[in-house]
Amino acid sequence: MTHTRTTPASLPTSETDLDRRSTRARTDPMSVTALGDSLYEVDTDHGTSYLVDLRSRRCSCPDHTFRGVRCKHLRRVAIEITEGRTPPPGRLAVECAVCGAELFVPEDETDRPHYCPLDRLEAGAFVRDRETGDRLLVVSVSDRRADHTAVGNSAYSVATYPNNREYDPADRVVGAVYPQSVSMTEAGPDPDALRVYSFPHSRLERVSGT
Ligand SMILES: [Zn+2]
Ligand SMILES: [Zn+2]
Repeated sequence: MTHTRTTPASLPTSETDLDRRSTRARTDPMSVTALGDSLYEVDTDHGTSYLVDLRSRRCSCPDHTFRGVRCKHLRRVAIEITEGRTPPPGRLAVECAVCGAELFVPEDETDRPHYCPLDRLEAGAFVRDRETGDRLLVVSVSDRRADHTAVGNSAYSVATYPNNREYDPADRVVGAVYPQSVSMTEAGPDPDALRVYSFPHSRLERVSGT
């Protein structure tokens, strides 16, 4: 069976243009980068870059500037946001501080480390120390930065402590214990035996287990 094109020849040109623009918005090779403040840079494979402002629905390309049409760049940005490949206005893409997975975060919070859902730790999580391979149990997750947190009475902060210097100084501080060191009393873990060590968050990697 042969498929023939059923589009009537009398279809208004504008409508044909619209279909074509729709298809090209989806299929043309373009890469979209969120710049913040509802601005997006769209790079085409011709080496041309256009600036799309989603809030004012403007694009710097000739199609939009001179012909006033909703060009394929504006459409592409909208498609990528809908499909979760580009952050919506007000958010920017950052990498998880532990595994590097892409995350969309509020654009005024890009100056601190972020963690993907898997790497976001909570008390009770088991983790592996990436420096020593030791298994630890998380007992606290704080909002304090590693470089603002002193280690005991020493001159070190959690960020400058030996073995921690490779990690982001803005990393959040996580308190963890060595489970094998926890001695149990009838009332539960013995608080006196519980020595809590402070780590930069991204030094600890979640592991499964109980
Ligand atoms: Zn455009
Ligand atoms: Zn991660």
